Amino acid sequence: MTSDAAYNPAVDSPVSDWDGQDAPARRATLGRILVRIAREALQGSDLDALLEGICECLVAELPVAIASVILLDEANTQFVHEVYSGEWTQSPLAMIGDWPVTQGGAGRCARLGMPQLIADVHSDPDYVAGNDDVRSEYLVPIRHGRRLHGVLNIESTRTDFFDAEACAVFDAVADLVAGAIHFARIADELRQANDKLEQLSMIDGLTGIANRRRFDQRLAADWLRMAVEGRPLALLMVDADAFKPLNDACGHLYGDECLRELARTCEDFVESEDDLVGRFGGEELVLLLPGRDLAAATAIAEALRVAVETKAMLHPASPVSAHVTVSVGVAALVPAVAHPPPERLVAIADRAMYTAKQQGRNRVCAEPAEP
Ligand code: GH3
Ligand code: MG
Ligand code: MG
Repeated sequence: MTSDAAYNPAVDSPVSDWDGQDAPARRATLGRILVRIAREALQGSDLDALLEGICECLVAELPVAIASVILLDEANTQFVHEVYSGEWTQSPLAMIGDWPVTQGGAGRCARLGMPQLIADVHSDPDYVAGNDDVRSEYLVPIRHGRRLHGVLNIESTRTDFFDAEACAVFDAVADLVAGAIHFARIADELRQANDKLEQLSMIDGLTGIANRRRFDQRLAADWLRMAVEGRPLALLMVDADAFKPLNDACGHLYGDECLRELARTCEDFVESEDDLVGRFGGEELVLLLPGRDLAAATAIAEALRVAVETKAMLHPASPVSAHVTVSVGVAALVPAVAHPPPERLVAIADRAMYTAKQQGRNRVCAEPAEP
């Protein structure tokens, strides 16, 4: 058994004839198997492949007809996944479909939380037959700390196989499997937490729209994509008018609420996942619109300006209106390899926005890109 190749008895198992071995040789075989599984459990990366390798090793090296690892759900009420090796008509999980812990020897093992030695499977009411030749079975809880992950199931065609030494080895194998499952689940949880953090690191905390980091990434990506496709990339720079006087007159919390409403209003103009609304800075929002030329982007900007006005958020300190208004700068160009970097689009939209301010605010200014 190796982490990157299937178990090969011819290479990996110099001694597989259990009957031909005396007691010390059997002890040595059990010890060798344990060392091999320990090494694998600490190094394997793919959990299913690792569990499969362990089951294969037990079946190939020992008088074991079936070896399986049966995993429980979070609530420990149901078996949900089984990895096995050996001569099996069908795994119980596949046979029963839903496998609650009220059923089978494995269910009993999980319920009681203790190893179960079934010396004669035919006299055990809980035994679920998967192979007619099986005579005895040993089941061990797979537990890490307080968490029960499942059950290690070993079935033998012999009645005398599960002596104290063999059982001690399977107890240790179950511990190793528990460790491997624990680390695999921790790695999975870490991956999910990282993904979540990565997403959160792209979101503006106040408004819930994309933050500057996300906007910069998308601008760079869209710039390249539009350059390849030979289509225009448009940017709207949306700046709230007289926002400082608004804060001074009504307080920052009211200003914050107006910013959220502005963000929601901008989002109403997103047509597909390709479009992005972001917070560029303080009270400046941006709309990045791939595929839109200057005329189309300007029409969107004007509709947005009107939509903000229509929201009628009170602004008692504005020099231009009784309500919150925005000035919008618009830029659009077809990126080309010869053009300087994407920040150029920001600079043009910014300039256009300042022109809108100078011309009296609450208006849209579009600036064509110079050739
Ligand atoms: P102009 O019409 O020229 O844009 O005037 P302005 O007052 O909006 O421009 P200025 O850049 O001087 O001020 C922007 C203000 O936006 C300053 C700051 O108090 C406010 N601001 C920035 N970020 C936030 C925020 O997160 N919440 C609130 N409430 N205010 C913010
Ligand atoms: Mg500003
Ligand atoms: Mg402003």
